Amino acid sequence: TTTFPKPDATRIFTVANQKGGVGKTTTTVNIAAALASQGLRVLVIDIDPQGNASTALGIEHSTEVNSIYDVLIDDLPMEEAVAQCPDIENLHCVPATIDLAGAEIELVSLVAREQRLARSLARYLELRAEAEDRVDYVIIDCPPSLGLLTVNAFVAAREVLIPIQCEYYALEGLSQLLKNIQLIQKHLNPELQVSTILLTMFDGRTNLSSQVAEDVRAHFPRQVLDVAIPRSVRISEAPSYRQTVITYEPNSSGALSYREAAEEISQRGVKSHG
Ligand code: ADP
Ligand code: MG
Repeated sequence: TTTFPKPDATRIFTVANQKGGVGKTTTTVNIAAALASQGLRVLVIDIDPQGNASTALGIEHSTEVNSIYDVLIDDLPMEEAVAQCPDIENLHCVPATIDLAGAEIELVSLVAREQRLARSLARYLELRAEAEDRVDYVIIDCPPSLGLLTVNAFVAAREVLIPIQCEYYALEGLSQLLKNIQLIQKHLNPELQVSTILLTMFDGRTNLSSQVAEDVRAHFPRQVLDVAIPRSVRISEAPSYRQTVITYEPNSSGALSYREAAEEISQRGVKSHG
């Protein structure tokens, strides 16, 4: 039997932290690639205008392609924006183009502005389920802000995955993030849970990294995954080859640790559902 069990129902994660450079995109694409390479069906939704997740997955995201912008702003059915990842079967992505930079403002005047992603994703998941091709994991890569794009992700998701960089000030801003998530739970999505915290860019040789990891584990004993992602050159160079570290250097410490994180996530999901 696989150690990456199929979940009973589609699990929808938002990867969020309003700080930039903490490993949101890296975590999104590598967890997605690790799950998909074990045979699970995975959809990545890129809602960061920079489109870094799209790039790392080798997905075209020039302004000519259908993207999450068209889905959110022009009601394009999501299936028309979904692209297949060239390297990994079972892995699909809705890319982000630079058009999305304006969406934060354009969304303000639209009907159901906070629910647009949730509604279109729900329709898409239904289609896939009807075609007996159920999606196991959806992972949404957020921009480094708490604006309407991130709110759309929180409303569409059931679980939040927070990557925390093992550096000084790691916990700064976290209370702001948690406060916003509480507001979402209260007003827009009562089912949302911070299910998973992943320590990233861990450097076991420094006291600082170990101290931060210890603090985070003490604060969030249930959420923090056992594995921490080490700082690794392979992880940071993979995107320049339009790859994840899972395919680029499968035996590197970075690939191994992301595979382990994905395995923990898949097993915890099954446990928490009883
Ligand atoms: P975010 O999406 O939160 O802005 P990224 O995932 O883009 O963060 O990561 C920021 C930078 O750090 C990128 O250049 C990325 O390649 C690099 N990086 C992320 N994780 C690691 C790691 N474990 N080791 C080394 N570099 C990393
Ligand atoms: Mg990013």
